[in-house]
Amino acid sequence: MLCDLFGGDGAQSRAGEADVSVTTCPACGYHVAVLFYDGGQQPLATLGWPESADEARAMPRLPLRFVRCVDCGHVFNAAFDYAAVPYRNHPNRMFNHGLRWTEFLESARARMVGRLPASPTVVEIGHGEGGFLEALARSLPNGRFAGFDPHGAERSSVPGVEFHRSLFRPETHMAELRPDLLISRHVLEHLTDPLGFVQSLGFAAAMAGIQPLLYIEVPCIDRALAYGRIEDFYYEHNSHFTTESFSRMIARSFSAVDALDHGYNGEVVYALLRLRGRLEHLEHARAARGFARMADQSRQVIQLELARLFMAGKRVAFWGGTGKCAAFLQAHRVDAQRFPLVVDSDRDKAGSYVPGTGQRIEFRDVLLGKPVDVIVVPSQWRARDIVEEAARAGIVYGQLLIPHNGQLVDYFTAEHPYGGRAVAAGKVEESCSALTV
Ligand SMILES: [Zn+2]
Repeated sequence: MLCDLFGGDGAQSRAGEADVSVTTCPACGYHVAVLFYDGGQQPLATLGWPESADEARAMPRLPLRFVRCVDCGHVFNAAFDYAAVPYRNHPNRMFNHGLRWTEFLESARARMVGRLPASPTVVEIGHGEGGFLEALARSLPNGRFAGFDPHGAERSSVPGVEFHRSLFRPETHMAELRPDLLISRHVLEHLTDPLGFVQSLGFAAAMAGIQPLLYIEVPCIDRALAYGRIEDFYYEHNSHFTTESFSRMIARSFSAVDALDHGYNGEVVYALLRLRGRLEHLEHARAARGFARMADQSRQVIQLELARLFMAGKRVAFWGGTGKCAAFLQAHRVDAQRFPLVVDSDRDKAGSYVPGTGQRIEFRDVLLGKPVDVIVVPSQWRARDIVEEAARAGIVYGQLLIPHNGQLVDYFTAEHPYGGRAVAAGKVEESCSALTV
């Protein structure tokens, strides 16, 4: 972490560079930002709804520390805490019923209708009062229109429209609804991780095997920057897209965009694109799930194998008690009651204890005085060195086991890539058969 190098607290670099922050950009994921507007401490501006002058004056003050990503130009409040904004009581209402705004909404809907089949399924994430989705439903009377918004309208009188007062969960709802179009208007600028959100939409669509259209629209601060509008920056509006940062978020997430343009006199920016899944995402996901399944099975199998050694009365030593070896002992619940003996090649580690399981770590020469039936080497990648070290030290044992492909295998006889058979055929052969298990 850069902040550690600076000796900082994770949010800001050292004196002399005090306006530079190490913090993650919500739009592009870059980590360096520069102070853009320090508004001090101010109360909520739009969602507080105080009911008296005294209450208004006594409202808690919240920090406005807006920074600007040096990579994409996004502006965001680095001191923002989502929990401090009471969306639950007063859902956020954006813009107005003015003529220009209405015209912009109509043109947006016309663009969507032109790209949709006659009976589409449309999902709006954050439907708010529901007017946009209802108007779209009226243009396409044979479609299904589902809005998701924990604080939005509850029900609609427009046929085909259903409102859910819940979050849209891409991993379940995408496969369930198989939408032709996903709409997200004036939502992303309220999220702490909009980049993660749009990427999760793309991945969920790929997993569901569909290629829906996505329409996203957010306020654009290009003009606020050009004309010095500091009043745009208050607590509830923690994240501000410029054309550049919005474009960068799209480029970081999707391979192509069909339309990226402005509306309402440049005050909003929107994109319309088709969610086309990427093969490598599916391949990585498949590989990750395969590893996770293997890890579960591996832990069960090796725990059983260790239990069998214990039940058979074998004297077992584990070679290595820190790092990967400690992780092995922890993952397989190698408790100190059944398996008290842990040795290490490093004299300096002797006398300390295995984190979590509590065995006292002994220097490996303890095995000279009390030979064991089985040595388990959790760090299979250095088993060859350990075998040679044991031979040099005159340590004898019955069997040496390493974890490999989800089970414990005999180092000298099993098929594995850590050189066991070569060692067995070579110079340390004599040390390996002194005892039988
Ligand atoms: Zn950025």
